[in-house]
Amino acid sequence: MQSKFPEMEPRILEQWQGITNLVAKLCRVPAALIMRQNDDTMEVVSGSEHPDSPYQVNEKAPLNGDLYCETVIKTQKLLHVPNALKDPVWDHNPDIELGMISYCGVPVNWPDGTPFGTLCILDRVEKHSTDEEKDLLNQFARIIELTLELLVSNRRFENLSLQDGLTGIANRRLFDVVLKREWAQSHRLKLPLSPLMCDIDFFKNYNDSLGHVQGDECLKQVAEALSAVSKRELDLCARYGGEEFAILLPNTEPKQAFELAEQCRRAVAGLQIPHPSSAVCDVVTISIGVCTMTDSGDVSETALIRAADQALYRAKQGGRNRVEICPTVS
Ligand code: GH3
Ligand code: MG
Ligand code: MG
Repeated sequence: MQSKFPEMEPRILEQWQGITNLVAKLCRVPAALIMRQNDDTMEVVSGSEHPDSPYQVNEKAPLNGDLYCETVIKTQKLLHVPNALKDPVWDHNPDIELGMISYCGVPVNWPDGTPFGTLCILDRVEKHSTDEEKDLLNQFARIIELTLELLVSNRRFENLSLQDGLTGIANRRLFDVVLKREWAQSHRLKLPLSPLMCDIDFFKNYNDSLGHVQGDECLKQVAEALSAVSKRELDLCARYGGEEFAILLPNTEPKQAFELAEQCRRAVAGLQIPHPSSAVCDVVTISIGVCTMTDSGDVSETALIRAADQALYRAKQGGRNRVEICPTVS
């Protein structure tokens, strides 16, 4: 399935609300619903605002193999049940308990063809949907699919503009956005926040001796190694500039931040990428500056990064392939 269960955007939900209200009105039924299939439930994503509709938005029904919508999704065909009470296949349907005895629904899919859910109508009385009504459901299902297409391409675009093209990790832009957010959060909750600034040692020499293409390859491997170390859910590893990486560690005390920086340093050296023109080692290494904001003091997020940068500078001056910490700022 497309990025598993992405949040619907408010403007899409607004448009869907208009669709379910209109479909209910045109088909003269109390309930028109846009349903979405999750791992083990069917969820009402949008429902007509009619006093006789028993369905609530966000309401979920457990999948049990014999919900109408499951059948529509499975068969990828319109399902029409004019009166469930007279139909032995459907006369135990849970919607009957809600007083709804007729159903007509069509599938709705993500742009890649995987199922999203259904668009359906339900009524309290026997209802033989006309060909026009079935056509209307199909037409509106296509419109819903177009909005899903928009959602997916918007997400893709957002991701592209926040992702570094070469390494696939977060870019500077995303780092700055997350830094602002995490800084405000840490400040509010009085939690420590630790940025790590990492820079490849003698990378200009690396390019000069082995070529830019190999340089790019090296950057990819370093990015992968650093991401693998900073893997807690809130950690963010970004390509900050050419051969610089920044790692943001929310809720991380100086000692833990230093240990993680050491792990990063060892992970990169452990890649054993030969570096014939490094003055410190025969493989690619990085230097790291660490800083921690521990209190709700006056330090801005810019000053925090600057302090980590100064620590990085000291790591370079001190011989490279090492971690330097900045005295805690508060
Ligand atoms: P130091 O140990 O002091 O950090 O030395 P350095 O040579 O790594 O530092 P410097 O900042 O002088 O060089 C960085 C080099 O990184 C210069 C540039 O050619 C290279 N670089 C920056 N971005 C890219 C990139 O996208 N691909 C490749 N292959 N090289 C890059
Ligand atoms: Mg640099
Ligand atoms: Mg460098």
